[in-house]
Amino acid sequence: MRTHRIAVMPMDGIGREVIPAAVRVLRAAERAVGGFALAMTDFDWSARTSLETGAPIVPPGGFDTLRGFDAILFGAHGGTPGVPDDVAFAETLFAFRLAFDEYINLRPCKLLPGIPSVLAQAKPEDVDFVIVRENVEGELAGPGGRTGVGTPWETASQLTVISRGNTERVARYSFNLARSRRKRLANITKSNAMRHAYTLWDEVIAEVGKEYPDVQLDKFYVDAAAARMVLRPQDFDVLLCTNLFGDILSDLGAALAGGLGVAASGNLNPEGAAPSLFEPVHGSAPDIAGRGIANPVAAIGAGALMLRHLGEAAAADAIEAAMGRILRDGEFRTADLGGGATTDQMADAIAKRVVQGNAE
Ligand code: ATP
Repeated sequence: MRTHRIAVMPMDGIGREVIPAAVRVLRAAERAVGGFALAMTDFDWSARTSLETGAPIVPPGGFDTLRGFDAILFGAHGGTPGVPDDVAFAETLFAFRLAFDEYINLRPCKLLPGIPSVLAQAKPEDVDFVIVRENVEGELAGPGGRTGVGTPWETASQLTVISRGNTERVARYSFNLARSRRKRLANITKSNAMRHAYTLWDEVIAEVGKEYPDVQLDKFYVDAAAARMVLRPQDFDVLLCTNLFGDILSDLGAALAGGLGVAASGNLNPEGAAPSLFEPVHGSAPDIAGRGIANPVAAIGAGALMLRHLGEAAAADAIEAAMGRILRDGEFRTADLGGGATTDQMADAIAKRVVQGNAE
């Protein structure tokens, strides 16, 4: 029996509602599909606890503890008065990405039947692409600073960092992913305006592309790509983006595929040398937290991504099929999708469908 060690970390806000819901669906898949076991350990870390104790959100020794796990299922950070969102981000997600070399951020964007689209013309098959966001360099991880603080000449700078080695591994991951899908890779760049960092980015991607003659490589400037995602989403299969552009385009992608309630992501260390982290794209949603009405589909989708990463494709397929089925049937929908179901009702319907199978 294969055993996967999972750190379960709901964190703050609706993370505390959608992660337990996702865990129930994972347990259903474990029972129904068989052949593997999930050894889950709960971590009650949060911005709220950190505020009460005065300790950092991840307590001393926390990173070493997590290193012993195969994956982390993460809820949501932020939205806690007294802990600025950038501090919560820097102490958790951002720190995990660097500590565990999670150099890929994977954001599948697929419009499932039954989910209303913001694009009037879009059919579900039109919106089916994956955004691969470089996750440890680019514009977000670069050094920077301020000079002349408080003077009229106060100046801030923040460097864009692109390295050959990192770009190569991100490109290779993306070409392999495209090869397993519709064999089209879009390099999202801005080398027409940012001549140093982005020309290296383009060069490395083109070089790696020579190893993949069966994958069509296209180049889009990020502004044009944003427009095309709305006008002709069917042109995209895998989009390879730097950190900042990927951050922005993946929220656009999430909106096109049904909104934050259904968008999942993975922060991957593809080699499995350290734990990868899986999370719903949404934040802590303080406006609806504590009411039991958050959509658990994004967190459940993150659970399915996690199982796929761990090599449990049959269990991931079972969860994704069950989610698709429940959304298409329309009997259970949370408020963000125009229904009246609670978080638990939606999750339990999906779990039940996982156990029943999706045959009929
Ligand atoms: P944070 O400060 O943690 O980023 P936020 O409210 O700024 O929180 P999100 O949590 O991403 O950002 O929420 C944005 C909007 O989307 C909110 O109105 C929220 O209620 C809604 N939303 C987010 N996730 C869900 C969900 N799972 N189900 C229903 N609505 C959601």
